[in-house]
Amino acid sequence: MNETNDRNGKIVIVSGPSGVGKSTICKEVAKQLKNVYISVSVTTRPRSQAEVDGQEYWFISEDEFQQRINKGSLLEYAEVFGNLYGTPRDKVEEELRRGRNVILEIDVQGAKQVRRINKDVVMIFIFPPSQRELAERMKLRGRDDAETAEDRLNGASGEIAAAWQYYKHMVINDDLQQAVSEVIEIIREN
Ligand code: 5GP
Repeated sequence: MNETNDRNGKIVIVSGPSGVGKSTICKEVAKQLKNVYISVSVTTRPRSQAEVDGQEYWFISEDEFQQRINKGSLLEYAEVFGNLYGTPRDKVEEELRRGRNVILEIDVQGAKQVRRINKDVVMIFIFPPSQRELAERMKLRGRDDAETAEDRLNGASGEIAAAWQYYKHMVINDDLQQAVSEVIEIIREN
């Protein structure tokens, strides 16, 4: 992947703890900014009932994931809460060449890998208004069993600590519209 120039779009990484509202924010940003593509990751995580293959993720087997690693077809990948997640390289590069900005909703480990190869990446971390609010949102979402939900909440503390070190832009998702406007402003200005 080349450094961003005037014709190419830029990579925008959006990270934050599970349940913080990254996907909702990104979808809204993509609606309001026309030249934005949200990357669809591959994952070995089981699909929940509400999810559709190819929309939130491409759900693939561990074997297939490993093949993609071997072929070098993932821009980055990481194990998160016991499952593998990765960004398909070709699609991201194609969209960047078309001049679209590409949003990657990925964790801190993946963000570090992308930044290593592209210094121009825009890095945004989304914070919950509070730890308690995050726990409430995860309960409402109701996707995880109690153990997974606890893992995700514990993981959130580690991610938030890393955020201060690696992310230039911080947005608190207290009010959705406000958070969306802030992300849009960051993308426009960078
Ligand atoms: P979830 O299972 O809740 O959809 O996602 C769990 C975590 O995996 C999220 O915090 C998200 O940021 C991260 N994630 C999703 N897709 C990718 C990816 O392609 N690469 C990396 N490194 N992390 C991802």
